[in-house]
Amino acid sequence: MNQSSNPTHVEAPPRRFDFDLTAPDPIPESGIARANELMRSGRLFRYVEVADGETNDAALLETRFSELIGRRYAVGVNSCGSAMFVALRATGVQPGEPVLVNGYTLAPVPGAIQHTGAVPVLVEITENLTIDLEDLRKKAESSGARTLLLSHMRGHLPDLEAVSAVCDELGVALIEDCAHTLGARWDGRPTGTFGKIGCFSLQTFKHINSGEGGVILTDDDNIAARAILHSGSYMVYGQHQARPPMSVFEPLRGQVANYSLRMTALAAAVALPQLDLLPERVEKVNRLYRELETLVREIPYAHVIDRAPKEEYVGSSFQFALPDFSPEQISAVMRIANDYGLHVKWFGESVMQGFTSRPRQWEYVSSAQDLPRTEAILSKLCDMRVPATMQLESCQIAAEIIRFAIQEASAVD
Ligand SMILES: *Cc1c(COP(=O)(O)O)cnc(C)c1O
Repeated sequence: MNQSSNPTHVEAPPRRFDFDLTAPDPIPESGIARANELMRSGRLFRYVEVADGETNDAALLETRFSELIGRRYAVGVNSCGSAMFVALRATGVQPGEPVLVNGYTLAPVPGAIQHTGAVPVLVEITENLTIDLEDLRKKAESSGARTLLLSHMRGHLPDLEAVSAVCDELGVALIEDCAHTLGARWDGRPTGTFGKIGCFSLQTFKHINSGEGGVILTDDDNIAARAILHSGSYMVYGQHQARPPMSVFEPLRGQVANYSLRMTALAAAVALPQLDLLPERVEKVNRLYRELETLVREIPYAHVIDRAPKEEYVGSSFQFALPDFSPEQISAVMRIANDYGLHVKWFGESVMQGFTSRPRQWEYVSSAQDLPRTEAILSKLCDMRVPATMQLESCQIAAEIIRFAIQEASAVD
């Protein structure tokens, strides 16, 4: 890149970005101690015999989770992808059945639908990266779908009251994918409480790090019992605590397949003490997010995503759009930022990279070609992770690099 190509707007070269954006949250010492204890005892399976008055860590985590979000029942599984698969199965979704899903999401979300044999029906998004209610209505009516798997991708929340109302009106059951919204609320109410089921992730890059893990939350007796049986509880489901009465399971015995997608006691032990740290983590990432938002808002060509006043988000990642830039220019932004050590991601990449993809790249999904608006929005969208362990100064350096890279790239044609 010739830095003097645009002499009237010379930016000083930015400082080098010094922080590893893939840095996970460390496990608190109490979690490490408990994990060691479990490993010494070998009792890693959640259904080992427990002494009277003792509870397995997985059951404890379920209880804590249900209390934290405010739902009656919780079921631990081995990932959020599994949680969504089990949730869909537990509500009775059948092979061949259409299931609605917003087009801005992570690959395991249409994957969970396909895993049940159902057919993903993709719904357009708006400039705010949330589901387009008009298209939701249209696709629900044209497909006859009875279920919406609503993915709060990168933590962006639609008007959840409006979505619930549309679902009620259309007779569509709502399942929320809250992999990126643990700790987030809409108008004071936690995500995962708006639909029939909320699905959460404990994967390393989410808000609680147990390596792998997922949690299903619901208030529905029958769904909870089915989810517990599907998760692989054998006939020892009585060891669960955040579960419906034993009588609910009786008619389901032998009717519900065991998919062996259990949460391990070890994952639960590592996750448990992190629940106490959640408010602190949310505050930390939001401070960083707001710093980035303020600085990037000032950069010519960069468009920051608006967030609704009722949205209490967890800013664990930051998105901005470059609506006036060509693919070549956005590529140049990525390359220049990378040269300064800042690994920004781009949803418009021609081949899937890292964890980032967009609908057209899910070739097994037949409706993936039909989302022109979502494709157009994602083709301009950039993304970076905001780890809680990052410092405010790193946000300032990141913004300097983004500013510089955008300016340099604006001269590319
Ligand atoms: C990470 C993520 C998932 C999948 O979670 P896993 O626990 O990795 O299966 C689903 N949806 C969204 C929005 C995510 O960010």
